[in-house]
Amino acid sequence: MSFQKKGILFPAHTDLNFFSSRARPEPVRSPVMRSPGPASRPTQAEPGDNKVSLQSYSDTATTKPRTTAGCTCGLLTGTLGNNPSAEKGHIWDSMRRTALILGLGLLLLAAFWNSITWYPQRFWGASGDFWQTRWETLLSTFEGNEWILYIIGVVLVPGLCFWGFNGLLLMVDRTGKPTFISRYRIQLDKNEPVDPVKLRQSIRTVIFNQSVISFPMLVILYPFLKWTGDPCCRELPTFHWILVELVLFTLVQEILFYYSHRLFHHPKLFKKVHKKHHEWTTPIGLISIYADPIEHVVSNMLPVMVGPLAMGSHLSSITVWLSLVLIVSSITHCGYHLPFLPSPEFHDYHHLKFNQCYGVLGVMDHLHGTDVMFKQTKAYERHVILLGFTPLSESIPDPPKKTGSALGPSGPLPHQ
Ligand SMILES: [Zn+2]
Ligand SMILES: [Zn+2]
Repeated sequence: MSFQKKGILFPAHTDLNFFSSRARPEPVRSPVMRSPGPASRPTQAEPGDNKVSLQSYSDTATTKPRTTAGCTCGLLTGTLGNNPSAEKGHIWDSMRRTALILGLGLLLLAAFWNSITWYPQRFWGASGDFWQTRWETLLSTFEGNEWILYIIGVVLVPGLCFWGFNGLLLMVDRTGKPTFISRYRIQLDKNEPVDPVKLRQSIRTVIFNQSVISFPMLVILYPFLKWTGDPCCRELPTFHWILVELVLFTLVQEILFYYSHRLFHHPKLFKKVHKKHHEWTTPIGLISIYADPIEHVVSNMLPVMVGPLAMGSHLSSITVWLSLVLIVSSITHCGYHLPFLPSPEFHDYHHLKFNQCYGVLGVMDHLHGTDVMFKQTKAYERHVILLGFTPLSESIPDPPKKTGSALGPSGPLPHQ
């Protein structure tokens, strides 16, 4: 169900400026923004060095004044440049554009909805009774104790998906086998094998976040879900409705995650909160929920749960959504660009460079111009769903590095 991700819903190279009447700006090459040159594998950032973020915003700001997607700097970092009011205008302009494009997207979706979902609905119609019967059996088994069903749906099933999927990935991370998977590694020669001490410490944090943060939070949210809807309603939602909800949840997550994530890149918050997640410049799957507790609540849990809360969703939708989020988030952190799965290049690049690619889908980054450097890299060319078995690192290789000037298209990080 990877349709949520950018590579499917919004093909990686979709130009959303299609909706803009203004021209796309040509970036001016700053001293740190080189032409695609000798080595496109970007220089790796120092883990947790937030000076990178701050300075790099300034680098992004050295592009020509943006007339389309808006300002790329200062929104949440306080680096507003020489003309704060002009910058503020750019930010609002950018946000208005974001709202307009999202609105247009929803209108188009509504217009073509029936044609998109006609065939799946026919399939669902045939199997819908099957699921309805199973659901009614579960309801009668737990009659009067629907909260148990809720815990199974929001904790147990998504948790099993997460650990089942990451268990397989961890085997590859530790052993490099099977090579069928390890050959798709994005950052070559990294995590071969992954550091066992660092891994153990990360697993402890992930288990802490799941059991001490996520679990109680989901329990607390149950009365709110019952207030806005009926999560254990006898009638299952239709296939159409589940799809509508998944699309809306995805958009809500994209917006909330983008802004909260950028907020955590503010120098003060970065040091105290987000630095932990960025200890992994070459992430692995379970790092998707390796984070400070504050970040886990604000940036991981809330953006995911606000959609279901607002919609008063059925437990079946929430279970599907949470399972998808955990699997897709693990894919985007896993470090392998595997065939037929969403591309992890976007978020992998964020872990490598810190100051690019803050969102999930990439829509908000496109609108705010926080993917300008990424778009000049080979990683961007590889940011597609792989529809074959040749690793993209082979079909779209990085140019050979030149010693002494290992500068990606985005150039060296300022402190280097
Ligand atoms: Zn991450
Ligand atoms: Zn980050």
